[in-house]
Amino acid sequence: MKRKVLLIYTGGTIGMEKDYETGSLRAFDFGNIFEKMPEMKLMECEVFVHPFAQPLDSSDMGPEEWRMIANLVSDNYKKYDGFLILHGTDTMSYTASALSFMLKGLKKPVILTGSQLPIGDLRTDAKENLLTSLYYASLYEQNEAVIQEVAIYFEYKLLRGNRTLKYSAEYFDAYSSPNYPILGQSGVHLKIEKDNLFRCDEKIEFHVDEHISEDVLFWRIFPGMKLNHFKEIPKMKVLILQVFGSGTIFSSENTLKTLQQIKNNGTEIVVVSQCISGGISFGKYENSNIFVKIGAISGRDMTAEAAITKAMHLIGNSNYKGSFADNFSRNICGEISESGD
Ligand code: ASP
Repeated sequence: MKRKVLLIYTGGTIGMEKDYETGSLRAFDFGNIFEKMPEMKLMECEVFVHPFAQPLDSSDMGPEEWRMIANLVSDNYKKYDGFLILHGTDTMSYTASALSFMLKGLKKPVILTGSQLPIGDLRTDAKENLLTSLYYASLYEQNEAVIQEVAIYFEYKLLRGNRTLKYSAEYFDAYSSPNYPILGQSGVHLKIEKDNLFRCDEKIEFHVDEHISEDVLFWRIFPGMKLNHFKEIPKMKVLILQVFGSGTIFSSENTLKTLQQIKNNGTEIVVVSQCISGGISFGKYENSNIFVKIGAISGRDMTAEAAITKAMHLIGNSNYKGSFADNFSRNICGEISESGD
């Protein structure tokens, strides 16, 4: 049986080609993808293309576009066996993380990919990324999708979307998943690490939870930073602090006073690490006790991208019972390790 994949083209470098007369990059008409890449016709799956009317640089993608993609997946969920989203690389980890929280009860593959060089470039990485992603997006065994989560496929690796970050603007190998092992790898054989795949609660019917609040701020702490600036910022619902190492910050009376004041004003404070791998461990150093004192929430080993989109999804979301802190600390879709602290 030929599996059907819906390819949603949103924009980014992958959809560009060089205009050899002017030398500049221009958007490529994805309607012609089968002419440009006749290899696609050799795939065992059938591919249907849905291009965004206006292809976007991924720095222009945000909550509105995340909802658009989530609803496209939902409207076509029954008709297709898998979904492939072509996306600019700059914010792909944010989109993948947001979608992982929004697509509830997902039992089909949603794969995101892009490329560092345009599809029309001789040395492009786009073709391999696109073809292998299609393979993963249509992979079924015993009539069940092998991948049932939002993943990023890039440069031979299949990664859990909400565990990724873009760490290179130069190398083809642009994404890393520092705190979670790979889901699959493409070499001579296309491999899947079955033990690493996410499975949601069987009982949850697939649906979209569109809730995304923009009332979230993210601050990176640095030595010498004047916390007084915090007092000048308007009230926000969640403040995510990216702090040193396993969860430390400079110890001064003013630090405690300022953060306590923010917390008392009703802002949730979340703490994530500036380190790419490992995570927050409150209590390990004296300089982390301040967070326990003020009742901050540990982001443990979550990426900044996952912490931000999780906070955006949870804050003020009436579909979740219980406190923000309890829901934030809970593993929703594989974005956080069970035992962090
Ligand atoms: N600026 C581009 C984007 O994210 C970069 C890329 O696609 O690689 O849309």
